[in-house]
Amino acid sequence: APSAASPLLANLNDEQLAAVTLPAGHALILAGAGSGKTRVLTTRIAWLLQNGYATPGGILAVTFTNKAAKEMVARLSAMLPVNVRGMWIGTFHGLCNRLLRAHHKAAGLAQTFQILDTQDQLSAIKRLCKQHNVDDERFPPKQLAYFIANCKEEGLRPANVEAHDSDARKKVEIYQLYEEQCQREGVVDFGELMLRSYELLRDNDPIREHYQRRFQHILVDEFQDTNKLQYAWLKQLAGNEVGGRFEARGSVIAVGDDDQSIYAFRGARVGNMTDFVREFDVQRQIKLEQNYRSYSNILDSANHLISHNSRRLGKNLRTTQGAGEPVRVYEASSDLAEAQWMVDEIKQLVRNDGFERKEIAVLYRSNAQSRVIESALFNASVPYRVYGGLRFFERAEIKHALAYLRLLENPHDDTSFTRVVNFPPRGIGARSIEVLQDAARAAGCSLHDAVSAVPGKAGANLGAFVAMVDVLREQTQGLNLRGIIEQMLESTGLVEHFRTEKEGADRIENLQELVNAAESFVTQEGFGRDAVALPLDEHGTPLAQSTVSQGLDPNAPVLDEPLKPASPGIVDADTGETLSPLAAFLTHAALEAGDNQAQAGQDAVQLMTVHASKGLEFDGVFIGGMEEGLFPHENSASDRDGLEEERRLMYVAITRARKRLYLSHSQTRMLHGQTRYNIKSRFFDELPEAALKWITPKQQGFGSYAPNSGAGGAYGSGARGQFGFKSETFASPPVPVQKTTPSHGLRAGINVFHTKFGEGKVLAIEGTGDDARAQVNFPRHGTKWLALSVAKLTIVD
Ligand code: ATP
Ligand code: MG
Repeated sequence: APSAASPLLANLNDEQLAAVTLPAGHALILAGAGSGKTRVLTTRIAWLLQNGYATPGGILAVTFTNKAAKEMVARLSAMLPVNVRGMWIGTFHGLCNRLLRAHHKAAGLAQTFQILDTQDQLSAIKRLCKQHNVDDERFPPKQLAYFIANCKEEGLRPANVEAHDSDARKKVEIYQLYEEQCQREGVVDFGELMLRSYELLRDNDPIREHYQRRFQHILVDEFQDTNKLQYAWLKQLAGNEVGGRFEARGSVIAVGDDDQSIYAFRGARVGNMTDFVREFDVQRQIKLEQNYRSYSNILDSANHLISHNSRRLGKNLRTTQGAGEPVRVYEASSDLAEAQWMVDEIKQLVRNDGFERKEIAVLYRSNAQSRVIESALFNASVPYRVYGGLRFFERAEIKHALAYLRLLENPHDDTSFTRVVNFPPRGIGARSIEVLQDAARAAGCSLHDAVSAVPGKAGANLGAFVAMVDVLREQTQGLNLRGIIEQMLESTGLVEHFRTEKEGADRIENLQELVNAAESFVTQEGFGRDAVALPLDEHGTPLAQSTVSQGLDPNAPVLDEPLKPASPGIVDADTGETLSPLAAFLTHAALEAGDNQAQAGQDAVQLMTVHASKGLEFDGVFIGGMEEGLFPHENSASDRDGLEEERRLMYVAITRARKRLYLSHSQTRMLHGQTRYNIKSRFFDELPEAALKWITPKQQGFGSYAPNSGAGGAYGSGARGQFGFKSETFASPPVPVQKTTPSHGLRAGINVFHTKFGEGKVLAIEGTGDDARAQVNFPRHGTKWLALSVAKLTIVD
């Protein structure tokens, strides 16, 4: 029987211990906020590794955000001397990306496929609609993007979408055209990452079987917010339909809290939990009932509030911590006053109570609320950091720079082409671009290839642009990532352009930051780590690997040595071809939350939407804008399901707090240029009076919620709009740079021979040991990046 003797297990309560040491098999852990679900998952991985029940390569863990993945990896490396790079820990999107890079051929993609973020996707749709004369009043591009994302989340390709009227048929037609455009340009959006990798597993028996054998242990956090496709994806990895019945193998552990399901509007299905129990024939369900996070005033507030929801699976949550401070409630006269109050309280917390700024969060229901709070913090010189605002990699100047880099990787990326063809301005007008687009469509080729078909001065200007990029591609061969970016910034005139702009200094600084981001990507994270090999034989059949878990052997020795990486991070087993550092970096940029690196370590107050705060915890939490129409949001307050989701959202917000919780509402608020008069949220009436302390005198009449009062207002759909697809690449802690001398004996300039590509010249070497790669120019096959541990190169001269 497992004992708590091991230091790993020392602090767990009985239920947690049972969950961590579950024998192989499927299990559901259903438990409330702060009960240690995530901690149990992390500790279980460590326990499996430490006892030899699994190797790093045998583990796949899905987290909800990149931040969570990073934290899990960091905690694991603190617990065990383990090389975490062989483990597949990340978000659904991050894992799908990894899978698709490894099997790009089988998935019908170029190895260097680029990822469209939500912004790129929208501009791609706009471009397409323009080309096909789609009426954008009738079919707003945003709606189309939403429609396409929804179809993909439902697992539907255009051919499978049912369309009953002409509008619906038109949408499906656009979906089809959009797919063709993406395929032609070698780009995938976030929905496609998920759907494509699902189809890859579904349709490719050897690949599916390989991963089923490999991932003996699948662990999923925040399971209540998985959607239909994500669940189907997990099922592909976990087992097969046999005679109409699903037969699961290995060990899948799902962890969730039905009360924290807050993504129904994005297709999340709490029903996945009950399906999971049924389809996986789950024998073990564990409930965790002790909350370790919050003082009881905070926990009581959360419990009280959520008890107003009707459809719940039912759990209890208690704490042994004391009552703590009461929850403070403030009524402000305006949103400005509310923000000022927050700033004053934050300063006090820092000055008098010794709180770290980064342990204080301000949460809001809608993104639009952040601006006023930001400016109050700014004026008071309190450092702060906004999550999910404009992310670093989404800033205009960065997007321009990335577009140039993407063109270096793939000249046929029309989205990037369009973005920078006239940026910095080089006299190529909208009309010229239309002519070019028509020519490309007529010839069925990329914009790059259609340039020669454009006559006159426009053609000459376009030709000069293409030549500049082509020359740059030549020039940057053999340069390291930093060199490539610096050369690009120089040759394209981007930096020069911003020198003459009014606010250009900031932008140049950001471009410099891009160089830094690339640098730390290469040294810390090790490029190409998203592409992991599945060695295939010449028939495309995966070879057996040593990474399969050894199963649950009670006599397995405790590991005291660092584990070897399960896979060296390579793609094609027969050629050894791998992602270039540039391609790997571009992937990282598309998936990375991309917080400004310079801000990362700063002790700053954290601003984010409630949605973004899931799974996180802070000593002090402020929840602003607790007003009817805003929280609960007016779009949701009218129907019961919507209201229950709002309440769960509030439950998530409250349970982020460890020590102090502050709630506020304001009588007036400026929104969309109008002053709105608001009454306080009905949620105040659902909190236990004994846990609250009203800082402003509680008012009678005015300010309390009355149903059907008609108040609330046009708050737009900020919270929906802001939720893009925030997932990122894999997180791993800094990998120390090895200081060994290269054993391969290669260096730039010498000639080598490759069995498939023939003779070529080495242009550059990056990385060491198992990660060493060479960039080689083969006269017949072009420039390739090869993983030296796989590609057997012989030195010719
Ligand atoms: P959420 O539902 O918000 O995601 P969770 O159930 O995942 O919460 P964790 O984040 O794992 O909860 O844990 C909440 C806090 O309680 C963390 O700070 C964690 O370290 C701490 N904790 C969990 N279990 C224990 C324990 N047995 N002893 C001490 N602290 C614990
Ligand atoms: Mg958690």
